[in-house]
Amino acid sequence: MAKHHNSSAEAILVIGLGRFGSSVASSLIRMGHEVLGVDVDEAKVQEAANRLTHVLQADCTSSEVLRQLGIADFKTVVIAIGSGIEASVLTALAVIEAGVPTIWAKATNEQHGKILKGIGVKNVVFPEARMGQMVAHILTGKMMDFVELDDQFAMVKTRAPAELVGHTLDEAQVRQHHGVTIVGIKRPNEAFTYAQSSSTIQRDDLLIVIGETKLVERFAART
Ligand code: ATP
Repeated sequence: MAKHHNSSAEAILVIGLGRFGSSVASSLIRMGHEVLGVDVDEAKVQEAANRLTHVLQADCTSSEVLRQLGIADFKTVVIAIGSGIEASVLTALAVIEAGVPTIWAKATNEQHGKILKGIGVKNVVFPEARMGQMVAHILTGKMMDFVELDDQFAMVKTRAPAELVGHTLDEAQVRQHHGVTIVGIKRPNEAFTYAQSSSTIQRDDLLIVIGETKLVERFAART
C-alpha cells in the first residue's frame, strides 16, 4: 500500500468491518485517507471489498498476524469489534504491543470501555450510548440535533424561542439571559450563516446553540 507522509492523508487500519467499522472506513476514504480494512469473517471482507480500496481477511487478536499485515506502518488504528469483548481486548493488547501511537476503539458498554481504557487505549467511543443520548434529546425536546462535546457541554440545532423573534442578538442578550451562545442561524432555503450581534431572529430560523448541556436543553425547551 502506498504510504502518505502527509498526516492529513495518512493510512489508517480499521479492524472489524461491521456496521460501525465500515462506516468509519468509508468516511475516512471520503476524506482522502488510505484505509486497510480487516475482518476475521470472509463474508464481511467480501461485502466491504466494493467500498474499501484495501481489505484483508485476518484474525487480529494475534500479534504475529498484525505484524504480517504491516501494523508497523500505521500510526492510527481503529478497533471496531463490539460484541466480542474478548476479541476486542486481545486485539487492543496486540495493537498496543505493536507500538501504534494512536488507537481508537469502540466499546459496547461501560464495562468494556473500562477494560479498554485500563489496558491503555486512550480513545474509547460508545457509539450506541452516544446515539441513544442524541435520539432521547431530539425526541423529547425541540432540538433537531444534539451533540455533547464534553461531559457537560453541548451543541444543538433548535428553533428560535418565540420571545426572541424580531430581536437582534445584541438586543436579545442571549448569553446574559440564558447562559448559551448562538453561533449560527439557518433561514429556510438559505445556507447557514455565522450569527452576528446585528442578526435579527425570525420565526422560522433554526439556531445553532452551544453551551452547558443543562442550559442548552433549557433554552431549546423555550421554543
Ligand atoms: P457493528 O455494530 O459495528 O455491526 P458489532 O457491535 O455487532 O458491530 P461485532 O459484530 O462483534 O460488533 O464486530 C464487528 C466486526 O468485527 C465483525 O464483522 C467481526 O467479524 C469482526 N471481528 C470480530 N473478531 C475479530 C478479530 N479477532 N479480528 C478481526 N475482526 C474481528
